[in-house]
Amino acid sequence: MRDGEQTPGVALAKDKKLLIARALDEMGISIIEAGSAITSKGERESIKAVANAGLDAEICSYCRIVKSDVDRALECDVDSIHLVAPVSDLHIRTKIKKGRDAVRQIASEVTEYAKDHGLIVELSGEDASRADPGFLKAIYADGISAGADRLCFCDTVGLLVPERTTEIFRDLSSSLKAPISIHCHNDFGFATANTVAALAAGAKQAHVTVNGLGERAGNASLEEVVMSLEWLYKYDTGIKHEMIYRISRLVSRLTGVPVSPNKALVGGNAFTHEAGIHVHGLLADKATYEPMSPEYIGRQRQIVLGKHAGRSSITLALKEMGLVADDAQTEEIFNRVKQMGDQGKHVTDADLHTIAETVLDIYKEPLVKLEEFTIVSGNRVTPTASIKLNVKDKAIVQAGIGNGPVDAVINAIRRAVSSCAEDIILEEYHVDSITGGTDALVEVRVKLSKDGKEVTASGARTDIIMASVEAVMNGMNRLIRAE
Ligand code: MN
Repeated sequence: MRDGEQTPGVALAKDKKLLIARALDEMGISIIEAGSAITSKGERESIKAVANAGLDAEICSYCRIVKSDVDRALECDVDSIHLVAPVSDLHIRTKIKKGRDAVRQIASEVTEYAKDHGLIVELSGEDASRADPGFLKAIYADGISAGADRLCFCDTVGLLVPERTTEIFRDLSSSLKAPISIHCHNDFGFATANTVAALAAGAKQAHVTVNGLGERAGNASLEEVVMSLEWLYKYDTGIKHEMIYRISRLVSRLTGVPVSPNKALVGGNAFTHEAGIHVHGLLADKATYEPMSPEYIGRQRQIVLGKHAGRSSITLALKEMGLVADDAQTEEIFNRVKQMGDQGKHVTDADLHTIAETVLDIYKEPLVKLEEFTIVSGNRVTPTASIKLNVKDKAIVQAGIGNGPVDAVINAIRRAVSSCAEDIILEEYHVDSITGGTDALVEVRVKLSKDGKEVTASGARTDIIMASVEAVMNGMNRLIRAE
């Protein structure tokens, strides 16, 4: 949570930090670096709240080798500190402005100081991959003598390669009398590979961030490291891997940092299939085009339909929705999907469901119906929306404000619907203009989720607000119906 929050533009307030910390703890993460106590008063309040939340995980604060940093950490009731000493000559010269010996001495003194105050100390070498190996070992050895419980090797700017990592960790893990951690950055895309190599060569802990967040190209990602160990190395990490997708979405939402569609395991496309031939293979055996079952990390396979859709895509998508169609019905559904695809429309889960229900004659009235809505927007008002819904024949009236009219109306719908279905989350929102001009037809596509189940839905209107309302309502109906 500390290095992840160092992502440019990310700052988490106390309640958000608490939400993430609780989820990490539930998942079985053993140590949570909740922040850096020296940063600010607000940061200290957040760390303290996490430390006093009754979690099983050890709660840690980042500290420089400065006694006042340790004092601030102590004010936050943390169990441990990640005590970071610069160890490369470049870092020593530019940050400490003293020689190697001075750094060695200060690191030991601050370690001793923290131990005297009852903290668990993980002594870290910053920029260790560019440090003189002899000096690094000396500072680690001094740290152990001063009482450090653990050590850490930081590849601060991501310069390690797996082969070198293996060499370094074979040496360090056999010559040092304390467990050592690996802390990798992803500047060359090697963070996961280096982290796993270090663990295989004797590292006892790995520093990771959810979604690989962090400065520049980020840190080693939690989901990649955990799943590489679990799935590829058959190593039981003790982490509840079925929570991985949920926590990835949570962190993306709270930090506002989107996950790239092709990101390993948690990207939007990681378990999405479109091409006809692949879906044909999947239908015979899922393993054909899937490395592992998406349920393992708590997510679901998605079948994208469009003008490339084959009959097998339809069959598989129906199967995923728990619907059974005979050959003639499948053909009819297929034709209607093709028709939509030819019109340039994206066929969402909600569209397919509606088509299938109509063809299979199991169409049900939507549970949530829009009766009316009003928007006030302009340059001297806060965009405000009021909405009247008919939910299972009960009238619900709510209002919401937002950053703009679309945001306001969606906030109003969210409130109205939460009275009959809580925890529906708007994950993604896209607008496309289908034709040109100010009277263009706009298509709004949304992804909604509820308890890890995701649906996509769309609305197409000339009015962007109406299209947004339609898309969200379609998705909500699908989620509530599925329940
Ligand atoms: Mn770092």
